[in-house]
Amino acid sequence: MKLPTPYRGRFAPSPTGPLHFGSMVAAVGSFLQAKSRGGEWLVRMEDLDPQRETPGAADDILRTLEAFGLHWDGAVLYQSRRHGVYEAALKMLERLDAIYPCACSRREIADSSVKGVDGPVYPGTCRAGIVEDRAPRAWRVKVDGRRIEFNDAIQGRTLRDLAADFGDFVVRRADGFFAYQLAVVVDDAEQRITEVVRGADLIESTPRQMHLQRLLGLSTPDYLHLPVALNARNEKLSKQTLALPVDVAHPQQVLVRVLQFLGQEPLAELSEANLDDFWRWAVKNWRVDRVPRAPGVVVEIPGVGQA
Ligand code: GLU
Repeated sequence: MKLPTPYRGRFAPSPTGPLHFGSMVAAVGSFLQAKSRGGEWLVRMEDLDPQRETPGAADDILRTLEAFGLHWDGAVLYQSRRHGVYEAALKMLERLDAIYPCACSRREIADSSVKGVDGPVYPGTCRAGIVEDRAPRAWRVKVDGRRIEFNDAIQGRTLRDLAADFGDFVVRRADGFFAYQLAVVVDDAEQRITEVVRGADLIESTPRQMHLQRLLGLSTPDYLHLPVALNARNEKLSKQTLALPVDVAHPQQVLVRVLQFLGQEPLAELSEANLDDFWRWAVKNWRVDRVPRAPGVVVEIPGVGQA
């Protein structure tokens, strides 16, 4: 008899700064999804790009998760230590003749492409080989007119035409770093993630990640994209939109607001409860069917939006 696969979820922050309300939504949503199913919740530090990182941010994120009682299972996986594994995946794609070097600059692509659902659609200029004496910059994966469909647990059925919506996309960047899409696919497989819970700002990455999973012979997890927290100007809360760090001195108060944002109905006294009691209640009463079925929701709470 085949044993059922144990649930494994994850939270995968990029250490670009302290956790804000928006990142806490992803942390709490993925944690409750895992714990309410008796599953494991893993943390992966997406520190692939040293230029985007803030020194000390990775440790600060982990300390904040601890202060909020968000205890992870197993060891934290650091993408910065896994270049060899990504390199092996890239080699495999090369053997499959699924990738090719590309010499185009950002400018050239912007000038010659149509707009897709998540940036310009690469026109395929270097697919048949790099012209003249131009140096290769990035590596791209071929998408070959494939359609990808998945049923997101919150956002519903999503169907994308890889060629029309994204074009051949980057798996190794011009600066030599591995692309987010490749690293995530390799790591979700390595960590045996059964369901990816993250913000809906990443939903357009899912079809590309599924394409890579198929090429690499990896299984596809389930997907659940939570609504993204927006400020009063309808911008995603982020470092760029000056979202404030969460208040580590008052985790319960932040957590009650996160639960409300996620459509749950926390009891008023939970903002005073100790963290163990808070989480016991939150895990037991988590109802994924109450999460708003929207890509984004405005946070109307003063103090969490922006500085
Ligand atoms: N590192 C990404 C971020 O912080 C999340 C990646 C993912 O969950 O797949 O936005």
